[in-house]
Amino acid sequence: MEVTPPMRAALTGLTVLERGWLSSNNVLIHAAPGEPGAVLVDTGHVNHAEQTVALVRHALAGQPLHRIVNTHLHSDHCGGNAALQRAFGAPITVPPGNADAVAAWDTLRLTHASTGQASERFTYAATLAPGEHFSAGGRRWDALAAPGHDPHSLMLFDAREGVLLSADALWEQGFGVVFPEIDGEPGFADVAATLDAIERLPVQVVVPGHGAPFADVAAALARARARLAGFVQDPRRHVRHAAKVMIKYHLMERRRVARDALLQWAATTPFLQAAWRRFDATGGEPPARWGERLVDELIAQGALGRDGADLVDR
Ligand SMILES: [Zn+2]
Repeated sequence: MEVTPPMRAALTGLTVLERGWLSSNNVLIHAAPGEPGAVLVDTGHVNHAEQTVALVRHALAGQPLHRIVNTHLHSDHCGGNAALQRAFGAPITVPPGNADAVAAWDTLRLTHASTGQASERFTYAATLAPGEHFSAGGRRWDALAAPGHDPHSLMLFDAREGVLLSADALWEQGFGVVFPEIDGEPGFADVAATLDAIERLPVQVVVPGHGAPFADVAAALARARARLAGFVQDPRRHVRHAAKVMIKYHLMERRRVARDALLQWAATTPFLQAAWRRFDATGGEPPARWGERLVDELIAQGALGRDGADLVDR
């Protein structure tokens, strides 16, 4: 990642473990003198859990891990929770809107089952609500509501240094799929409100849930708003995008899947069924044909490869 000197100063005392798309980034806030240990924000996907434990252990360099904080509980943000809990014994803090679903391990409500994504059960010790804050790394981290991508998602903001941990509410190029919209709930207005809220903050550096930290917040907001405007104007565009993201994600998770099995998976996964119902609302094609067409488009775009009867991640 390209880190300019002002960005480096703002990120002093933080280790940003930039991952990829299957695993979210992990941000380790190192303990300042007098603090009981480091705080880790988000833990990646379960497939990478042992790698996450190793990366965090290395970055800790002997310091204790005091606490794990999740911005939200999509499978790419909390998949390492259980392994980190085993490795370090650190308690886990979740957004209050997700607490019941975690306690009951309701993977439909947590979206892991509805998207056909893998995860591992963990327990939480505390909640962090919008408006609350915690101290770590000698900084005060305010929890801010970031509905849109996920109704319960938090962002964490250090106002003094202007560091925003934006999760999937704002990336350098866009933002995460607007999950509520796929279920027929309004979400685009929440995305817009969250982008407006970010604009009002004195942000110097954004550490997104995916991708490198960036400083040009205005440009990222402009790109996000343009993308959102396209979705608002044509919601089916968002549905198609969301369905393709989920198919690509499934391939990232499995690496290789028989094409027939992938199409079967797509036809029986609740998120994609809901997406098809939304997409088909104005008259379209049968779900199996739609799934085939999305897969073909992903292949044409180079996002998936073909190997005999199998599809492979690229
Ligand atoms: Zn997410």
